[in-house]
Amino acid sequence: MSELRQKNDKAELLPGPAGSSPALEESPQLVPQAPVAEVMREQLDYLLDHVSPGLCGCAECQRYQRVRAILLEVFRDRRPAAGTQRS
Ligand SMILES: [Zn+2]
Repeated sequence: MSELRQKNDKAELLPGPAGSSPALEESPQLVPQAPVAEVMREQLDYLLDHVSPGLCGCAECQRYQRVRAILLEVFRDRRPAAGTQRS
């Protein structure tokens, strides 16, 4: 009950979606409202595209290597751990 009341209050505070607000358009901080997953896919796509000809060693390449290391982290665990087993 109280939740609904809060939502109503918030809706009243928010500016209308159809309202003309030129100030919002000029502010770059409020523009990116795309879903995070979509942005991540775009970034990954961009990085893969960047390194497709080969790593050139720039900042984007370093980002790619970091992302790749994280994404492939799971597969490292599937490798049989050598040296940890002692019988
Ligand atoms: Zn590069």
